[in-house]
Amino acid sequence: MRNSVKRYPKKRLGQNFLVDDSVVEDIIRTANLDENETILEIGPGKGILTYALAKRVKRVIALELDMDLCGFLNDHLASFSNVEIIHADALTFDYRGLKDRFRVIANLPYYISVPIIVKLLENKKIIPEMLLMLQKEVANRITSKPGIKDYGSLSIFVQYFSNVETVINVTKDSFRPIPKVASAVVRITPLARPLVEVVNEDLFFRVVKYAFALRRKTLRNSLKALNIPPDRLKDAFRIADVDPLRRGETLSLQEFANLSNSLGTDQK
Ligand code: SAM
Repeated sequence: MRNSVKRYPKKRLGQNFLVDDSVVEDIIRTANLDENETILEIGPGKGILTYALAKRVKRVIALELDMDLCGFLNDHLASFSNVEIIHADALTFDYRGLKDRFRVIANLPYYISVPIIVKLLENKKIIPEMLLMLQKEVANRITSKPGIKDYGSLSIFVQYFSNVETVINVTKDSFRPIPKVASAVVRITPLARPLVEVVNEDLFFRVVKYAFALRRKTLRNSLKALNIPPDRLKDAFRIADVDPLRRGETLSLQEFANLSNSLGTDQK
């Protein structure tokens, strides 16, 4: 089926199609699908994953930006009454407009994988879980812990809202065209409440942003960008029991929470 689309992949849409059935099987096994559930797929491409999902669940909603592929998918999945191909941009789509709660299973377009994850986390109330194929480097950034090279503001953002783990590693030759980078599937399970208690989320994320903006600098220097009076900053380090000479990359989520909470709630 998938070889019958006589067209060149559109690089600008991140079209590296999965061609390895064993990876599809791994994803399906890992997903532990329920026949009564709804799955949302982003970027169904030529439908290798869509087809596997359609056979196993009650409803598959697939968002595809490429109009040519939408036409192709509608023809080739026509025998499945439970599949709905929607021509849409995953970044602007109104997820709350869908009636059901749904899990997301997708091989994401890599050029926008991070903004899509942010968007999905904004809609976490209706998404109990996501299984996302990503470039390995992004998977590492999302799952990293303090002191590991890839740990950064993206790790903090995702881990604040969810549990994350890498569940499948995928080699480049599983795709056509073969991409430049290796891939991995991550499981993101949004939490009912954030992992740590934060009084002012806006301030928390600004502290995180500046702490990582200048990686080689100490917190004392990098957090000057917050424009908070030096004495107040000094007190916050003391109350939070965080050494100002440390670098952001060594702080745990809890320590970032302690530090931003110690700065007070009235900070803009
Ligand atoms: N799921 C297919 C597979 O595994 O073979 C295709 C994955 S391919 C990496 C990414 C897909 O996302 C492409 O089909 C591409 O056209 C689509 N896409 C790109 N940008 C998109 C967007 N903003 N919204 C929805 N789909 C998009």
